[in-house]
Amino acid sequence: MTYELCEKVRNLEPYEPVSGTYKIRLDANESYYPLPDVILDEIKQAIDKTDFNRYPDPCASELTESFARFYNLDPACVTVGNGSDELISVITANLLQKSSRVIVTEPDFSMYRFYASLCENEVISVPKDKDLNIDIDRLIKTANEENAGMIIFSNPCNPTGQGVPRAEARRLINSVPSLVVLDEAYMDFWDEALVNEADKYDNLIVLRTASKCIGCAAIRLGFAVASPALTRVLRSVKSPYNVNTVSQRAGVCVFSHGELLRERRAAMVESRNNLYAAVLNLFAKYTVPARVFETHTNFVYIESKLAQEIFDFMLGKGIAVRFFRNGALRITAGSEDENREVLDCMESFMRLNKINE
Ligand code: PMP
Repeated sequence: MTYELCEKVRNLEPYEPVSGTYKIRLDANESYYPLPDVILDEIKQAIDKTDFNRYPDPCASELTESFARFYNLDPACVTVGNGSDELISVITANLLQKSSRVIVTEPDFSMYRFYASLCENEVISVPKDKDLNIDIDRLIKTANEENAGMIIFSNPCNPTGQGVPRAEARRLINSVPSLVVLDEAYMDFWDEALVNEADKYDNLIVLRTASKCIGCAAIRLGFAVASPALTRVLRSVKSPYNVNTVSQRAGVCVFSHGELLRERRAAMVESRNNLYAAVLNLFAKYTVPARVFETHTNFVYIESKLAQEIFDFMLGKGIAVRFFRNGALRITAGSEDENREVLDCMESFMRLNKINE
């Protein structure tokens, strides 16, 4: 007898980011800061004290408290995940009835659709308006008409950098029969967070991550913030030892340096403002038709007919950014030097291709 894989996974490919070695990596919206020595030293000491033969704390209690203190939250509202990616998967797989309708917006972070499909939910995609903003009225209407089990979107959005103001997000949560998952992976770079109100709603989960502004993508820490009732459910359905001890301890060290994290956040916001202004100028200077979107995140999203050519050229020069097949680039804001190199490289492309000056 031959074993046949079920259809939904038969043709899947493992996730592969831009592969290869590049001198500049601005393709994954990570922080450009390495951890400072003062935190690294604390982490080393914490690792020295780790009993590697023991399972981790299933509730990640110390980390939960450290994270909650940094964001001024009640620890009873926090669930820790192995990256927010894991939490998206856990929520989608466990908080919905079979064949529920899941509403996503387009374009948005692709994993929402991926996990919803894997869990055999019906994905309903609500397109964004011409300026790539979410049409909240349309979301509300669709969620009610379809009796959606869940609405999930990133705010501010990866990849567009656009955001839904807090008041509009509240209006959505109050007007639908669905669980609303607000993915605030990039909200450290904007100030329209709902994370501090998550416990006021019975249908809201706010996701956070240590992979972006906090600068810890390597140790995979994600957080779900919700009412104590929803939090109890999340803690019950996740796998017990989902976050390893080394990551938990490292996270405690990182989140206890609030002032340093806030300083770095301010520098990253300045870097993205500079990158945005410079990219806008560059496309204008060479009269290259493009839409450069204002951004609330740590990256800049550019729609251009030349996106593929610019991407290939930059990759050839050792600079990795993100290319989207719909004709767009997403460039993570880097250090001053990295931004300079990116801009110089794009300008060389425009000169070589004799685009008007
Ligand atoms: N949500 C959004 C919007 C993201 O862009 C990403 C990472 N690219 C994630 C979640 C996943 O982050 P993590 O590293 O916490 O799994």
